[in-house]
Amino acid sequence: MTDPSLKKIVIVGGGTAGWMTAAPLARLFERAAEGGRPEVVLIESPDIGTIGVGEATLPPIRAYNRTLGLDGADFVRKTQGSFKLGIEFRDWGSVGNRFFHGFGDFGPPIDGRSPWQHWLRLQRKVAGLPTYEDWSMSTVMSRRNRFTPPADGPPSAANAYSFAYHFDAGLYAAYLRDYSVQRGTQRVEGTIVDVELRPEDGFVAAVKLKDGRRIEGDLFIDCSGFRALLIEGAMKSPFEDWSALLPCNSALAVPSERLSPPSPLTPYTTSTAKAAGWQWRIPLQHRTGNGHVYCSGFISDDEAAATLLAGLDSKALDTPRQLRFTTGRRKAGWVKNVVAIGLSGGFLEPLESTSIQLIMDGVGRLIQFMPDRHCKPHLVAEFNRLMGQQYESTRDFIALHYKLTDRRDSELWRYCAAMPVSDNLAHQIELFRTTGRVAVLDRDSFQEPSWVSLFMGLGLRPEAYDPFVDHVDEATLVHHFARLRQAIHETAAGMPDHGDYITRHVKAL
Ligand code: FAD
Repeated sequence: MTDPSLKKIVIVGGGTAGWMTAAPLARLFERAAEGGRPEVVLIESPDIGTIGVGEATLPPIRAYNRTLGLDGADFVRKTQGSFKLGIEFRDWGSVGNRFFHGFGDFGPPIDGRSPWQHWLRLQRKVAGLPTYEDWSMSTVMSRRNRFTPPADGPPSAANAYSFAYHFDAGLYAAYLRDYSVQRGTQRVEGTIVDVELRPEDGFVAAVKLKDGRRIEGDLFIDCSGFRALLIEGAMKSPFEDWSALLPCNSALAVPSERLSPPSPLTPYTTSTAKAAGWQWRIPLQHRTGNGHVYCSGFISDDEAAATLLAGLDSKALDTPRQLRFTTGRRKAGWVKNVVAIGLSGGFLEPLESTSIQLIMDGVGRLIQFMPDRHCKPHLVAEFNRLMGQQYESTRDFIALHYKLTDRRDSELWRYCAAMPVSDNLAHQIELFRTTGRVAVLDRDSFQEPSWVSLFMGLGLRPEAYDPFVDHVDEATLVHHFARLRQAIHETAAGMPDHGDYITRHVKAL
């Protein structure tokens, strides 16, 4: 019987997805015994560029970096990065509304229940109670532009926060490329013009390059971006279009000058809702990233560009770059010996910085379900089942931002107020509205505090709360919250300014 082990893995594409796939494989196989180590080849085209946007992330990127053994400060320095404690939302829900989706929790449980449930109970009875955001450490730090990583030690309200990064996507891919190549990944420059299938089972046998080279492999990872060269071109895996649930289909991106002190380097992304979409602002060390995501049915590209430029807080460094997309996912992201990771596998607009997260989820699952050369159907089906759930729960979280709106001032917002939502999202909204509870699975990208921030920030107030919290003495609770609030504000006040933290702990390396 022939040896079924993988001898060669071919990654097609050298954008963020390609190099984020190559790096952990390089790390994994670096430790494998000689002979049990498949060759890893990454092909990137000198003629076809990368998408080049993708500058904001979610906290699990830190675990990804740790798996690679990367040093956090070195990473931020080399990618001109900054720290991200969450997203500030402006004009979402209603014009003038402002709220924060901070990373982390509202503090450790009180008597086994989230402080948020206790707050729900108290705010019905205690006049002048501060808002729930006052017990979110990441929110309080963001409002003051403070940053330092959470302190180790027993869980407390003052360390119940998390953080992610903003970075230059081009520098990040280059950083991971150097990392992977140093650990044995072979980089091939060339443009694929043909894909050869095995007649007996339809598996990909090889890809052919424009210059005549032929690259064989056992497993092909399609990181070719929106082109979806293998998963769609060769495997014909259909795309499930989610435009009805998430209507934006275009973006314009432009860098602008970094604001100089005394204007702060904000430790958060800003998302401002507009008439036909929303605008992002991502602070980096060397520039600010900006973009306008919009629905082309409700605004012309010229008007969208004018909106973007009018919303900048510093001088544009270029002319806006146009991007088009269709929201949705590949029905099967893994077919035969082709696995799609990155934009080839699906796209959800960048409102909650979920694309890089979905890349990490895809790579993690691929490593978990690493096949032999047969790519057994049940293994493939399990990968597809789990990734399908991940995409759908993420889609629903993003759709919530649009659906829960009181805005009726433009066609987009009128559409959103009336648009259909999935059964799961309809259930989430009703569950929260009637009971103050949230339904999440451990593996979902967004956990209870994130859903609570969004529901509350968008103005949905629950009719009830967890009855278990009534067991706690009210006066003790009021006293406890007052102490917590003071501790949170004092801790934040003692932290360095975000820009100063980077100067001292990142640039000074
Ligand atoms: P690409 O970057 O398009 O790379 C494709 C690669 O395939 C390239 O190297 C290309 O050379 C290669 N290739 C293609 N065809 C061939 C061929 N024939 N032969 C050889 N090579 C080929 N994500 C986030 O997490 N956070 C964000 O803030 C964020 N913002 C975004 C904003 C916008 C407007 C958009 C559209 C996306 C955003 N994303 C964001 C998503 C993020 O940009 C992508 O998930 C990420 O860059 C991965 O892209 P990719 O590597 O799949 O594709």
